[in-house]
Amino acid sequence: MQISESKRLFAHAQNFIPGGVNSPVRAFRAVGGDPIFIKKADGAYIFDEDGNAYIEMINSWGPMILGHNHPMIKEAVIKAMENGTSFGAPTAREVEIAELIVKMVPSVEKVRMVNSGTEATMSAIRVARGYTGRDKFIKMEGHYHGHGDSFLISAGSGAITMGNPDSPGVTVGTAKDTLLAPYNDLHAVENLVQANKGEIAALIIEPVPGNMGLTLPLPGYLEGLREICTREGIVLIFDEVMTGFRLAKGGAQELFGVTPDMTTLGKIIGGGMPVGAYGGKKEIMEFVSPAGPVYQAGTLSGNPIAMAAGLAMLRHLDTHPEVYASLNQIGRKITEGIVKINLDLNLNYTVNHIGSMYSLFFTDSPVVDFESAKKSDTALFGTYFQAMLKRGVYLAPSQFESLFLSTALTDGLIEVVLSAHKESMKEILG
Ligand code: PMP
Repeated sequence: MQISESKRLFAHAQNFIPGGVNSPVRAFRAVGGDPIFIKKADGAYIFDEDGNAYIEMINSWGPMILGHNHPMIKEAVIKAMENGTSFGAPTAREVEIAELIVKMVPSVEKVRMVNSGTEATMSAIRVARGYTGRDKFIKMEGHYHGHGDSFLISAGSGAITMGNPDSPGVTVGTAKDTLLAPYNDLHAVENLVQANKGEIAALIIEPVPGNMGLTLPLPGYLEGLREICTREGIVLIFDEVMTGFRLAKGGAQELFGVTPDMTTLGKIIGGGMPVGAYGGKKEIMEFVSPAGPVYQAGTLSGNPIAMAAGLAMLRHLDTHPEVYASLNQIGRKITEGIVKINLDLNLNYTVNHIGSMYSLFFTDSPVVDFESAKKSDTALFGTYFQAMLKRGVYLAPSQFESLFLSTALTDGLIEVVLSAHKESMKEILG
């Protein structure tokens, strides 16, 4: 595998871009080596600047659930482009996508479009504060809700990978209103609630966290949070930027049958274009300007090209429920295959899996929260990552991420991935 052009580009990029990348995990710091620079992507494959092809296991960190360069989305974008790229004024398509989101996501009665998951979560917290008249909120250790100041405390994803779960630049004043609980621990939440009675505006959570590696809610946990929040008048926010439209049409809330008060969305909602959204109960969303007093705005929000891509994606998912059966089967085949290969090699590494998301943790202990995720051998993960890359399989370049599968993964490609896994494991364990 030749990667000289990627190497050249990365060296050059570092002169002009901090760390050479526009989002930290892309730099491959956690796994060593230089990142590959991508030229194009199609279906199940991405292609780098040196002409190497890789089977995609990240899919742009989630959005490309139908595989890359899907003809239906491409056509919608090209068609929309013919009428201009931005108006900064309302369009029919925005109404159409809002109506569809309300139909698909159980908790959403009204929705506001933004440009990223980060904007969605920042705005949702502001609205929850405005609505309750309270300042504090609870987040879970190791969960990631974008790079808004108040979320960069014990944050997951790139923040763990880069060793900055608590980022410099976040003031003490901001941090004091973010209360932390371990995931999957209802007692910890109950204790925080009692110690801050009547002061907590919101509890925000990735219902199925993917940002400390994939972790699953223990039975009764999400239901328990729902009960506490209802009892205490706390706005329960599910951050479904990853899980929305992926685990089911209506996200994790549909799958687990627990309805939050607000939901944040991103990734799939834009079909690969920069889109996020937040929504929820009418009475809460009526606080958003200009209906209400909580200010939130965006020059490019509801951008016509982005909405065309998102609408094409959501319409397809809404009318093709078989997509989810197929994704579940792909996820099952890959993870069952990995577990079987590991057992044949006398390895008992933890594999967490749900639908089309999974993580292979380099630890024998169960991973249920941030503490247990951190037990993984991250150096060994790095060598595994490189071994897979060499064999043409593109994984997330950090132990603390989930993989996101697409419908483009055929049985034949799954076999290729599994055989790469077997060879890689043999190689790295000598
Ligand atoms: N929330 C969650 C759960 C996420 O996974 C992410 C990004 N991976 C975000 C928020 C932030 O989204 P964005 O990167 O689009 O700002």
